[in-house]
Amino acid sequence: MDRDKRQKASDVFQETNYLFAEKTTFEKAFPMIEDIEVKVIEYGEGVNEWNRERYYNKFTAGEYINCSNRLCYNGGFSLGRIIRYMVMNNMKEYQTKEICQGYEGSPKGRRKYRDCLNTFHITVKIKYKEKQEE
Ligand SMILES: [Zn+2]
Repeated sequence: MDRDKRQKASDVFQETNYLFAEKTTFEKAFPMIEDIEVKVIEYGEGVNEWNRERYYNKFTAGEYINCSNRLCYNGGFSLGRIIRYMVMNNMKEYQTKEICQGYEGSPKGRRKYRDCLNTFHITVKIKYKEKQEE
């Protein structure tokens, strides 16, 4: 294991079982969604031509999308929050910007040096399941 590797938002989320009683699959969390397309363009530290643009579907989307800054602890943003907002408002397409929630610090995150300034431009398209007719 890389001693210098910072935990990212999805890692921290996975470890904080006491905060989130149940981690469900996408299907269980969003049973009304037939399909989803997520495009994320990241700007900032650690971003290169290979990871600048990332795409996710219902099998690869997670609660958190991580940032690419190697020094950043708990880096990324909550994709789950954006999807919940869209579902609540019945939105099919949504574009937004997020700033990384993490910070540059010591490997375990105890010391904080400065905020991570990586930003994400996010486009989400949702296809909802047809309502069942009785
Ligand atoms: Zn970050």
